[in-house]
Amino acid sequence: MSAPADNDRFERAQELAKKALALLIKARVPPIPPSYAVGYAFFEGVPDEVHSVIQECLQKGEPLSEALMLALYERYILPDGYERFRSVRTDLERLLKLLLKALRAADSDNQAFQEALQENIKALEAAEDTTTLQRIAQSLLAAAQQAHADQQRLARELANAREELKKAHAELDQHRRAALIDPLTGLYNRRALDQLLHDIWPTTPVLTMLVADIDHFKKINDTYGHQVGDVVIRQVAETIRRGIRGEDYAARYGGEEFVVLLPDTDLKGGLQVAENIRSRVAKLRLVRKHDNLAIDAFTISIGVASRKPGETHEELFKRADEALYLSKAGGRNRVTSMV
Ligand code: GH3
Ligand code: MG
Ligand code: MG
Repeated sequence: MSAPADNDRFERAQELAKKALALLIKARVPPIPPSYAVGYAFFEGVPDEVHSVIQECLQKGEPLSEALMLALYERYILPDGYERFRSVRTDLERLLKLLLKALRAADSDNQAFQEALQENIKALEAAEDTTTLQRIAQSLLAAAQQAHADQQRLARELANAREELKKAHAELDQHRRAALIDPLTGLYNRRALDQLLHDIWPTTPVLTMLVADIDHFKKINDTYGHQVGDVVIRQVAETIRRGIRGEDYAARYGGEEFVVLLPDTDLKGGLQVAENIRSRVAKLRLVRKHDNLAIDAFTISIGVASRKPGETHEELFKRADEALYLSKAGGRNRVTSMV
């Protein structure tokens, strides 16, 4: 750097300083460093924006205020401040684009929020001052709050729908159960038995089946009435239920006929279960409620058969039923097996 050049610079700077000071004094703006820097920049013509803003004020005869000077200083001269503004703008822009991407990835149907984000991105690109940034941030916040509220409403609706679904499911379950349970005895019905047999058949190679039928039941009905007949059916059902284990199945197959499935039980075990049930039924004593009439003892006959290799469940049932027929033919109140 040569000495004359330094000198020139000093002269020019001094000139500009004087003019700047004069301008401030004339405008009655305190010549504190920021205002002074703006005045200086005006006369220097750099940056352009400072020059044109002040030029315009002077031309229109508008007063120069300290606030204006400070704003110009912050925006155009204080490089840090502008840097900060730019970095906030960049951050906001990045955040917006990220949000938009996330929304699209989530295939969000929140169209309003997406549109708000897009609009704000456009506004950001044009933003030149902190006030605009603030306005954008505010509008973003409002859009986000709206989106949040929408989402909460959606979540509530979803929770309600889930609750409804649960209720419907429970009802369906009840209907399904009702369709498989015999209402008079609480045992499985014939439909359930068929389904059960079908279900356990492939995995239950050892299986014994009992078919039981109340003896001379028609006579019980005829003598004591249908209602007593129903009580007898219920008592037999209860005796069967008590005579089997948790893994066994009992069904009311028809009017006064029952079928019991004993998985993992051989013929000998099945015969014991059958004999136990038969003897307990024979010991039952009932009294008709309204007139205290003692009901004659009643009995059941049972047929027993165990699954043979290669047999279908229809064939097993047929053999157990044939065994029941033999019990009836043999005099009733007895257990017969069919090999
Ligand atoms: P067997 O010893 O040969 O079995 O003679 P049974 O009289 O028991 O046999 P039958 O099949 O002739 O009669 C069965 C009767 O059961 C006929 C029907 O009216 C009656 N019945 C069927 N379902 C019900 C019911 O739900 N309640 C009542 N009370 N009676 C029923
Ligand atoms: Mg009968
Ligand atoms: Mg019968």
